[in-house]
Amino acid sequence: MKNIFSAFFLLILLTQNIYSQDSSELVDPEIFDDTSIELDSKFITKSLEAKNNGKPVIGKEWMIVTANAYASKAGAKILSLGGTAADAMIAAQAVLGLVEPESSGLGGGSFLVWFDNKTKMVTTLDGRETAPQKSKTTQFQNTDGDPKKFFDAVIGGLSVGTPGTPALMKEAHNKWGKLDWSILFNDAIELAKNGFSVSKKLEASIKRDEDRLKKVEMTKNYFFPNGQSLLHKQIVVNNGYAQTLQTIAHEGLDDFYVGNIANDIISTVQDYKINPGFLSKTDLKNYRVIERKPACVMYKNYEVCGMGPPSSGGVAVGQTLKLVEQFDLKSLGYENPLSWQLIGDASRLAFADRDRYLADSDFVNVPVAGLLDDEYLRLRSNKIKVGSRTEKIEPGNPSNSVAHDYSDDNSLELNSTTHISIYDKYGNALSMTSSIENAFGSRLFTKSGFLLNNQLTDFSFKHKIDGKLVSNRLEPGKRPRSSMSPTIVLQNGKPIYITGSPGGSNIIGFVTNSLISLIEWDMNVQESVSSPHAINRWGKYEIEESQDAIRLEESLSAMGYDTKIKRYFSGLNTIYIGDNLEGGSDPRREGIALGDLLLN
Ligand code: GLU
Repeated sequence: MKNIFSAFFLLILLTQNIYSQDSSELVDPEIFDDTSIELDSKFITKSLEAKNNGKPVIGKEWMIVTANAYASKAGAKILSLGGTAADAMIAAQAVLGLVEPESSGLGGGSFLVWFDNKTKMVTTLDGRETAPQKSKTTQFQNTDGDPKKFFDAVIGGLSVGTPGTPALMKEAHNKWGKLDWSILFNDAIELAKNGFSVSKKLEASIKRDEDRLKKVEMTKNYFFPNGQSLLHKQIVVNNGYAQTLQTIAHEGLDDFYVGNIANDIISTVQDYKINPGFLSKTDLKNYRVIERKPACVMYKNYEVCGMGPPSSGGVAVGQTLKLVEQFDLKSLGYENPLSWQLIGDASRLAFADRDRYLADSDFVNVPVAGLLDDEYLRLRSNKIKVGSRTEKIEPGNPSNSVAHDYSDDNSLELNSTTHISIYDKYGNALSMTSSIENAFGSRLFTKSGFLLNNQLTDFSFKHKIDGKLVSNRLEPGKRPRSSMSPTIVLQNGKPIYITGSPGGSNIIGFVTNSLISLIEWDMNVQESVSSPHAINRWGKYEIEESQDAIRLEESLSAMGYDTKIKRYFSGLNTIYIGDNLEGGSDPRREGIALGDLLLN
């Protein structure tokens, strides 16, 4: 098993673009020299060596995996000082907003799943953006009622929802923090003031988005100083961000939600010439993080807990797992196309339900209990037959549903976003996916030093299809449906896996398939996050370019699937909690796992 996966891993490294070259080229260990504590370049180098060799990073007391070495290091520092996973998340998220600005930040939203070792309970925080009170259900339609082109809707103020990430950070700290709030921002402030080194991913993302970024003056000035695109290893200072974090660290969030930063956000949104937006002071002032029950299923003897509505992630991951539970995937094995036929059909069934029912449950009736009901899923699973593609896939009719009222959604999601997994020495587990939606969000960069999200384009652009309302239609105050799937898996009441990924609606497949590879195919976390993807979202069967892709494609297309080979930019960051802790980070992005044993 191990050899096959290191071969796949190497192949991914060879075939993918700039994101997936040898990770040691992506991160410069020498910039992490920090003599104040024992988190120096050796620490980072050891972690990169493990990743490049397809091995997990090992820890004993704590582990953090994020999308960027600066962020993992900031979180690791907090964990080594006795901070909780919540404290470390705040430090890491503050750094990610600076060094990976295209993916997440203060101008975006997040979902967090938390296992509390004192209460032994799993809970979730919903820090998703809300639609401004003045927004209009038809704002992403042309005058003739047709949906706008995606990027015409994205760029500018109209796509900006009320940011939730800062409020979520504060809420997590109020509930589970141990260290003083004000010190959690130290690393991010230092980096913003003294400069950070641009990563390859950031350089590549800027180049790819050059035309769009240059449409907005502030954004152009930041990413193209003196007209030149920021380059890998260039040192960048962001004084606006340093000032913003200093204010947040010392005065809390008032300035962000009702003061000067709020005014800056509002004017950035409302004054942009193309697509001025509706976000107002009232929207910011009224923003609330919501604690919600997790969406959990029992898969064999594993309790898999994720994010319920407004994310579709927890329900869709849970459904897909339950739909394949009756089949012996373990014996069939990873390389058997029959395994992928079963997983693909389960995923098609789950996506049919997702597209029909999932939306913000504070606005529409989402039959979560019905969708995760054992009997309902058993009957749905009977539609799947080993070796024979399920012909007709349609949304089901779970109890308490309003299926007849809703039409299927047609919203589009593209790649950006980031995922953080943390386990602390107190036995708490944290899984958080954080996003500004599209890469660089709305492309609006504030004077306060961060980008604003375009999360409202996660709503369906059409509010009605064939005369029926779409459940994920835009409504004032509503949170757009997400696919983010931060997940914690428990066994005998204790956390065993923490995982999640960016990747739009592919997140659901990334997370589900990676859990199957851990539970059924005995992969370690690094093998699991590295293995090639094959995902069916109730459309084409999409297979990741890899050594075995053609063989799998031939088998699946012989079974009647419409197939396509493509590249993926997942960013799975996973922790296994056993006798030791093991951390793995997706080779397709720049993430890095750090655990306490690396210090020795
Ligand atoms: N906006 C997407 C969501 O909430 C995430 C985008 C991405 O992962 O690329 O599901």
